[in-house]
Amino acid sequence: MLEYQAILEEIEKEIKPYLGEGRVASYIPELARVEPNIFAMSVMCIDGRSFHVGAYEKRFSIQSISKLFTLTMAMRLVDEALWKRIGKEPSGSAFNSLVQLEYENGIPRNPFINAGALVITDVILSQLQDAQQSVLEFIRTLANKDDINFDFSVAKSEAQTGFRNHAMANFLKSFNNLNHDPARVLNAYFHHCSIAMNTQELAKAGLFLAHKGIQPWIDMPILSARQTKRINALMLTCGTYDSVGDFAYRVGLPAKSGVGGGILATLPGKFSVCVWSPRLNDKGNSYAGTKALELFTTKTKLSIF
Ligand code: GLN
Repeated sequence: MLEYQAILEEIEKEIKPYLGEGRVASYIPELARVEPNIFAMSVMCIDGRSFHVGAYEKRFSIQSISKLFTLTMAMRLVDEALWKRIGKEPSGSAFNSLVQLEYENGIPRNPFINAGALVITDVILSQLQDAQQSVLEFIRTLANKDDINFDFSVAKSEAQTGFRNHAMANFLKSFNNLNHDPARVLNAYFHHCSIAMNTQELAKAGLFLAHKGIQPWIDMPILSARQTKRINALMLTCGTYDSVGDFAYRVGLPAKSGVGGGILATLPGKFSVCVWSPRLNDKGNSYAGTKALELFTTKTKLSIF
């Protein structure tokens, strides 16, 4: 049997020289308050075993990893109808880019860039009225942890400074691709991004993606096997923005990153793995986190390829 714990401990040592590389996101001022050189990694196997190193109990801002959970909710609610309003191709541009949206008539390239997540939030609002609380409750259920919460200071900080997202929501509305008031969609979206979790909780919450849609300890399918395949495919092709090719080349796992420095990845049939280190590369993915995942798939010789 693979010695996951020993491998994680090796990675924790080998990653040290990389922890000073990259920069913490500061365009959301509250995110810049984090301890920059911290590291955590958790592996959760579908057979119930779990392994952790570093600051795996310390919560951080999940940011765009929330897009994975909002997409899952939207697929549960409206399934394929989603694709009338959002594409499923990699964008090749930054997660907050506006340019492509104009050329493509307000249809976001995929659900993992900001424009796509705003449309997803609008879809959830149409179905459930309270997109903010229902997403939080869904994540609490998936992680089996009732005290997971929003970080209201992060949400407020982003609401005050997220001018690009404000522009984007209004732009989507001008193309009739939002049904609700842009301010209402943005408020819910900023709260989703502000949810604070640790690597242990995120790996647990995402485990159904490695298990054909079934969360091992809840006797309830979260998604069908077909839907789960599709989300993993989108993670592989769109989950780490415009460095998705490099990430697949180096790591070889479907993954979703966030500017809080977290990355959640899966190996279908085996495990979910979550890593956190707040300094980012120039594409907005955790610098040390990407390196740690690369070391992990190299050392375990496990990837989807
Ligand atoms: N809340 C962030 C934003 O909208 C999320 C971006 C990210 O994590 N890549 O800019």
